[in-house]
Amino acid sequence: MNGLIKNPGQPNTHFVVVPLMAQGHMIPMADLALLLARRGARVSLITTPLNARRLRGAADHATASGLSLVLVEIPFPCKAAGLPEGCENIDLIPSANLFPPFFKSLHLMAEPLKSYLRTQPPSPTCIISDQCMPWTMDVSNDLSIPRLVFHGPSCFFLLCTLKLAEHQLYEKVTDVEEIFTVPELPQRIEVSKLTAQRFFDWPEMKDVMRHVQEAEDAADGLVLNTFYELEPWYIDEYRRSVGKDVWVVGPVSLFHKDASGKAVRGDGSAGVDHGRVLQWLEGRENGSVLFISFGSIARTRMKQLVEIGFGLEASGRDFIWAMKEAEENEEVKKWVAEFEERNRKKGIIIKGWVPQVLIVTHPAVGGFMTHCGWNSTLEAVAAGVPMITWPHFSDQFLNEKLVVEVLRTGVGVGVKLPAFYQTQVDEEAFLGREKVEMSVRTVMCGGKEGEEIRKRAGELGETARKAMEEGGSSYENLSKLINQAMELAGNRVQSM
Ligand code: UDP
Repeated sequence: MNGLIKNPGQPNTHFVVVPLMAQGHMIPMADLALLLARRGARVSLITTPLNARRLRGAADHATASGLSLVLVEIPFPCKAAGLPEGCENIDLIPSANLFPPFFKSLHLMAEPLKSYLRTQPPSPTCIISDQCMPWTMDVSNDLSIPRLVFHGPSCFFLLCTLKLAEHQLYEKVTDVEEIFTVPELPQRIEVSKLTAQRFFDWPEMKDVMRHVQEAEDAADGLVLNTFYELEPWYIDEYRRSVGKDVWVVGPVSLFHKDASGKAVRGDGSAGVDHGRVLQWLEGRENGSVLFISFGSIARTRMKQLVEIGFGLEASGRDFIWAMKEAEENEEVKKWVAEFEERNRKKGIIIKGWVPQVLIVTHPAVGGFMTHCGWNSTLEAVAAGVPMITWPHFSDQFLNEKLVVEVLRTGVGVGVKLPAFYQTQVDEEAFLGREKVEMSVRTVMCGGKEGEEIRKRAGELGETARKAMEEGGSSYENLSKLINQAMELAGNRVQSM
């Protein structure tokens, strides 16, 4: 192995993992923390008290398995940030106007983190910071700790948005709905400014965006949750474009092998009856169940839920439907009660947090209707499950392009515009039950197109699993990342 240590994390190797407080960020970074701990490193996973309660189940599971992972609680002063008490996660922000103060106040965690790190033996080897936590640059500079930046989205998204920025298309194109082609790609990918929006690209977030870019430029390397065989051209080109080390180490969700670990992933404090879900799945034929979930943030309006329901009934498929709206809205609750009664034999609706990886990796699941958040997308890929894509906002539209047009392991339900935009043009946004039924039938029933999609998805799942096994591309990349971090830390000590 070219002199590389196979399991290089020594007892005195100490990684400090700092995710943004949002489920779609904390979950993959907690998985990364677990992967590093499994290589023998000590890991401090930094979060706030409220989020620590969600991650406690996963941390306790890790400790019980003999891994050295410590959950470190750093206060997030909501009041000083102008946020309601307890607003410590993106999914708890009550209105859109509170997003800017949330992001602008994250740096308030820097001093408490420095105090914690100063007391630590072993002293930190490397910080792995979420892209959205640029303030870790100051922690790294002040304490002379190497720092890598973790990117949540697909490399496909990162490269497409980079190309659009390099060609100044965000400035040159004025009509947000105008369709144009992403330049310099090996295939034709058509987007609009609405469907290829960059993170933080709103007028009131310009300072945050600049800070994020500065912190990325100053980083010692980038870490991505993807795998080389999934998007090789995009990864090579991205690495060339950014001109620094890019460590591709996913799919990180494949850390979880047993049901107990999968069950506590993401929100171990949620009250789902995992046993009941598993038991229900056990009674179904392989590949017969459709799983529907739109992630941790997106919400679907009543009118649209009804259409999904009718489309689903018409498709005749069994289903597990994650419906957070049913926990929050009385009108939905009432409709769900009737729908559940009608479909008692066909499916179950889970009203709060669902153990997604436990469900999606079960052999009974044969299709995933997803909002194309990158974690969900990659979890489906890793499980070899074909997708019905229903993007809502952010990077989800480009992830859909990757799935439907590049990988060809899914079909689009037919969304054209982001959900936040659609609320202003209600009727255009709306997708009727026929589209739902048709896409479910294509992916999960007979027919050549579906057969080919399922075959490709299955093969890609195999490739993903191999990438994470010893000797696989992501496994080896993680070894190299650990070695590189140790080397960087050694150099910093020598130069002090
Ligand atoms: N997730 C889950 N249960 C839920 C909702 C989401 O386990 O009820 C997990 C899902 O497996 C994924 C993450 O939360 O790992 C969501 O990330 P993604 O990027 O897919 O979407 P986001 O929630 O950020 O929109």
